[in-house]
Amino acid sequence: MERVYNFSAGPSMLPEAVLKKAALETLNYEGCGMSVMEMSHRSAVYEKIIKDAEKLLREVMAIPDNYKVLFLQGGASTQFAAVPLNLLSETGKADYILSGQFSTKAYQEAKKYGDVAVAASTKEWNFSFVPNEEDLKFRDGIDYVHMCVNNTIYGTKFPYIPKTNAPIVADMSSCILSEPINVSKFGVIYAGAQKNMSAAGLTLVIVREDLLGKARACTPTMLNYKIMADNGSMYNTPPTYCIYIAKLVCEWLLSMGGLQKMKALNERKAALLYEYLDGQDYYIAPVEKNSRSMMNVPFLTQNPELDKRFAEQAEKRGLVNLKGHRLVGGMRASIYNAMPYEGVEALVAFMKEFAEKNPK
Ligand SMILES: *Cc1c(COP(=O)(O)O)cnc(C)c1O
Repeated sequence: MERVYNFSAGPSMLPEAVLKKAALETLNYEGCGMSVMEMSHRSAVYEKIIKDAEKLLREVMAIPDNYKVLFLQGGASTQFAAVPLNLLSETGKADYILSGQFSTKAYQEAKKYGDVAVAASTKEWNFSFVPNEEDLKFRDGIDYVHMCVNNTIYGTKFPYIPKTNAPIVADMSSCILSEPINVSKFGVIYAGAQKNMSAAGLTLVIVREDLLGKARACTPTMLNYKIMADNGSMYNTPPTYCIYIAKLVCEWLLSMGGLQKMKALNERKAALLYEYLDGQDYYIAPVEKNSRSMMNVPFLTQNPELDKRFAEQAEKRGLVNLKGHRLVGGMRASIYNAMPYEGVEALVAFMKEFAEKNPK
């Protein structure tokens, strides 16, 4: 069977070159007679894989030397607790920007650990745009600000980085590696790897060194950034295979010309879809223009029956996982790095055809 164009929000498409290389190395990794899945994480062969993964990621993302790179487990959702446990002192405060479902969950989790407030929220508008910079209200003396840069479910993205002296903690699960970012603007960056980086099971945390060592005494060992950093992400068995896939993804990114090039490719894909959406009136694009995500693009016919038919018929054409999240309805096309331009072309062609054949 042919491979499909998979528009899933996550786990999502991986580059074909990466899957092929992994397949080629499945039975016998570089002549050692076993798969990466089967090797000891303490072996010399694996040591090299994890070191190379970190080195390549530092190169791809231009991560400054005063940041630690941690390869953890538990998904981005575990970081919702790890962040306050590591950064919020017993008497401290933190402010959360609510721009969607995941930042709201992060806020609710953090509230268990101390004085946590909302800096701004666009919930009233069903998160169809991100808070304006002028509307952010940060308190004095906060330990950190939390934000989710790209809102996977609602298809929005912050067009700015907030100005604050407090460290910014950013959930970048669905935009990591999609374009260059200035890591030094952030205190902590975290991301579940299953959207744009690897398979499910790996969580990336990038943390500025001066923020290490502030964890509460009660912090579970496995959630303590300093312990994980001191042990090179090998306090216990790390998600070895996912780290190997992340390494292959970084090699692929470098072969593609790096994140500047990736950004240009992603912009071209997103523009194709948004330009079509803006030039017709069959589908509604619910997100305000200045908050649009380059990675996740929701659109609706506003008729649940037609939306359902759309997703079913698209599936038969090899355009799969287009059903929108239940909080937004309609459809959502996730077009991460691995989605080729041709996939978006095929989607737009199908959208045109469907609109013609299914009058409202
Ligand atoms: C998918 C996602 C999460 C949840 O990730 P898990 O790894 O499943 O816990 C959190 N935040 C964002 C922005 C996401 O896209």
